[in-house]
Amino acid sequence: MGQCHTCGNIYDKSFEVILKDVTFTFDSFECAIQALAPACGHCQCRVIGHGVEARETVFCCAHCAHASGISDVQDRSQHDMERTGNTEYLLAK
Ligand SMILES: [Zn+2]
Ligand SMILES: [Zn+2]
Repeated sequence: MGQCHTCGNIYDKSFEVILKDVTFTFDSFECAIQALAPACGHCQCRVIGHGVEARETVFCCAHCAHASGISDVQDRSQHDMERTGNTEYLLAK
């Protein structure tokens, strides 16, 4: 039984997400996305996939990165994070 960090609902099927040693409780993935997923630097939609990271900004897709004047975008796949050790994009917002 936990209370959702985003909407305040108390729900018997709540779950926890740990991000950088901080534990958040949610009643739905939608609420978790609202609270924790980065927002696209161009269209502001929530980035719930790998997204694209460039110049310290996360974009939902290469189109949005291009629309913000960034042409040399790079995928932020799990492989890239493991290779570079960079998971900072998770805390962009
Ligand atoms: Zn909620
Ligand atoms: Zn976008």
